[in-house]
Amino acid sequence: MTLMHNYARLPVAFSRGEGVWLYDTEGHRYLDALAGIAVVGLGHCHPAVTAALQSQASTLLHTSNLYQIPLQEKLADSLCRLSGLDAAFFCNSGAEANEAAIKMARLHGHQKGIAEPQILVFTQAFHGRTLATLTATGNYRIQEGFAPLVPGFVRAPYGDLATVRGLLAANPSIVAILVEPIQGEGGVRPAPQGFLAELRALCDTHGLLLMLDEVQTGIGRTGSFFAYQQLAGVVPDVLSLAKGLGNGVPIGALLARKSAADLFGPGKHGTTFGGGPLVCAAAQAVLDTMESAQIPAQAEKMGALLQEKLRHALEQHPDVQDIRGMGLMVGIELHQKPEHLVERALAAGLLINVTADKVIRLLPPLIISEPEIDLLVSGIVRLLEPSS
Ligand SMILES: *Cc1c(COP(=O)(O)O)cnc(C)c1O
Repeated sequence: MTLMHNYARLPVAFSRGEGVWLYDTEGHRYLDALAGIAVVGLGHCHPAVTAALQSQASTLLHTSNLYQIPLQEKLADSLCRLSGLDAAFFCNSGAEANEAAIKMARLHGHQKGIAEPQILVFTQAFHGRTLATLTATGNYRIQEGFAPLVPGFVRAPYGDLATVRGLLAANPSIVAILVEPIQGEGGVRPAPQGFLAELRALCDTHGLLLMLDEVQTGIGRTGSFFAYQQLAGVVPDVLSLAKGLGNGVPIGALLARKSAADLFGPGKHGTTFGGGPLVCAAAQAVLDTMESAQIPAQAEKMGALLQEKLRHALEQHPDVQDIRGMGLMVGIELHQKPEHLVERALAAGLLINVTADKVIRLLPPLIISEPEIDLLVSGIVRLLEPSS
């Protein structure tokens, strides 16, 4: 095989998908409780996205950002209306959205006369795999082998306000805070109550940018369009998005308040592919469908149901330490790293993921129905039975 070995892939290939279901090349059916890692929120091959892609593919694929792209402008309007932010930049992935955020933070610092601006990030964070974003990531395994890392990051324990206050008091070069409202790769860890609101207040006091990484939590996943919309007193200055935005086509976005967005003057940042007509048509269909079918509210309802049923079935289970999450982003923390759980799930026709060693992560499509939730819960329960 001529592929590089950077992925430890499971021995299965899918040939077709519909809603929450995937079909492998031998015709076996799988309940997809991962949705391509929080990407396929509307389910596989949603007809509105398919129609938008088909129509756009036969009209115009790519022109570059040397020219106006009306579909990109329309998508920016939609995202700004939904988020309350003022302007959008489009890229191709979550890491790129965070790279843009990091560049914006540095411009913000230099504008304030700070020669070596620093960004405050957190333990167990995940922000991507490019050099700057893997430096921001709080996981040694992701950084190992890639020294020298990028300077300009300071780290605090996630949720630890006392340390954050101390760092801000001691270090006037900190210009921004980059944080996930719920740490995804880090083990489905929601920020402690009040943590983000206090970060917002600290950013206001110190003139810092609050930069929320909603690459995983955004686009309806947690039961609102963006997770911060369920947290009182938390509106970011900068918001990074990707995963669910295109329902499977690669698109990322950085949204910002006007004062921050204006830092990106002509020539300050760019990408050849970002925000092209094809991906913007798909993302517009995603947002329109999410709004008209009230998918975030549906995710909130189904997420509550999923957590309730998991708790009912597993709360007393000796292997289960905690069940937590928000909307359809749910983690089941086990006491120990499970043996071959993902492989056994696959063999049983269920696609799940284990992150942070011992947290079963469930990120099903947001269109999952109650009977499908029941199948998912009974599947998990069977996997955790001692004999299996
Ligand atoms: C997945 C993820 C990223 C990286 O996105 P890519 O599209 O893989 O570059 C960044 N931040 C968070 C919170 C993510 O979950």
